[in-house]
Amino acid sequence: DTFDSLQLKNPLINVITDLGFEKPTPIQAQAYPVILSGKDLVGISQTGTGKTFAYVLPLLQELKFSKQSTPRILILVPTRELVVQVVEQIEILAKYINVRVLGVYGESNIKVQKEALLEGQDIIVATPGRLYDLIINRALQPRDINKLVIDEVDVMLDLGFRVQLTNLFELLPTRRQNIMFSATMTEEVDALIEDFFTTPQKIAV
Ligand code: AMP
Repeated sequence: DTFDSLQLKNPLINVITDLGFEKPTPIQAQAYPVILSGKDLVGISQTGTGKTFAYVLPLLQELKFSKQSTPRILILVPTRELVVQVVEQIEILAKYINVRVLGVYGESNIKVQKEALLEGQDIIVATPGRLYDLIINRALQPRDINKLVIDEVDVMLDLGFRVQLTNLFELLPTRRQNIMFSATMTEEVDALIEDFFTTPQKIAV
């Protein structure tokens, strides 16, 4: 597999050239066409396999420039550290793209986050609890979210976020693409997929 075969738009080709990446990692090569097809995806993959770019790359490939204020992509992760890390990775890849990304997590200043949301955002990277609060308090309007990524879902469930996740899903538009990554396939992960996913494509590396 090569990046050429993915037919990326120029701003993405240019950044990949800058980064010196030679070819997509196996999880990237497999996830890319599935995510572009709009089907739900379950990826079993460890950290260090390039899994972050496996979903960020196709999402950025497809994202259309917009001035609208409401976000269209939601990425849920288990911890504050991962929020910061994923936002950084998106900013790296979006170097030549006009895209607004905001990270939200429990310990950060809610007033600052509300102001950032008023300015308008395209992509939100969040921990589930704080995001739920922002939606309930009408600081975040979820109506245009049509892509949901849940990264490290096994860690999220281990931390006891199952109910928080379920409550959150109830607030999101039902017509959406679900993309999930987990290091392992547990019974709990399987149950979540059963409840919320539509015949997902499964890939493992
Ligand atoms: P991750 O598994 O998402 O934590 O990524 C691990 C590391 O791999 C990150 O530092 C990425 O910058 C790097 N990486 C991602 N995709 C590629 C690629 N196609 N070629 C080389 N390195 C990559």
